[in-house]
Amino acid sequence: MATEVVLASRNDDKLAEMQALFAPLRWKLRSIAEFSDDAAEETAPSFVENALLKARHATLISGLPAIADDSGLEVAALEGAPGVRSARYAGEAASDSDNNQKLLAALKNVAEEQRGARFVCLMVYLRHADDATPLIAQGSWRGTILNNPRGTNGFGYDPLFFVPDLKRSAAELDAELKNRVSHRGKAARVLYSMIHDAAA
Ligand code: IMP
Repeated sequence: MATEVVLASRNDDKLAEMQALFAPLRWKLRSIAEFSDDAAEETAPSFVENALLKARHATLISGLPAIADDSGLEVAALEGAPGVRSARYAGEAASDSDNNQKLLAALKNVAEEQRGARFVCLMVYLRHADDATPLIAQGSWRGTILNNPRGTNGFGYDPLFFVPDLKRSAAELDAELKNRVSHRGKAARVLYSMIHDAAA
């Protein structure tokens, strides 16, 4: 029988993406939404701590091993903001558009060459709630912040995140290409290898 693992996310696209990536392990990934409507508090000052909070919450309510990720955008000229507050940059109930407007305003007088940024993703695997040796993977993706939104794919800050190597914004990439180069895709592949090696 396949090992069941809970993914601490309510996003169906993320579930499908992770299911494909982890397919060789013959796992059945289940969404946290199957077990509870409660969301874990994301109150820690670092991505890794927030990812662990989400994973611990998921494993406690499901009784299954858990995978969780926490990600965000760090802008050098803003000393790493919006960072762990990326989803709530413009306020607790902020929309993607509110957050993007706030980011553009914060960078209003910042020159092109000083608009460097990166997306980061911390992805963790907890075997159970008291697991003292969680597996932890990190991925990052470098780019610059545009002066105006470009593209309609993706979510969050994608329309403002320009990828110099591809000469396109993240919102101008299709999902498959984004997964190959993004912070989350990189972290997921590293985590997959760690889990695979630990099981070998
Ligand atoms: P989460 O931890 O994956 O839910 O991401 C937190 C927030 O970071 C999101 O609400 C977005 O604002 C931002 N973010 C994370 N990953 C991405 C991405 O791939 N594209 C655009 N925004 C992202």
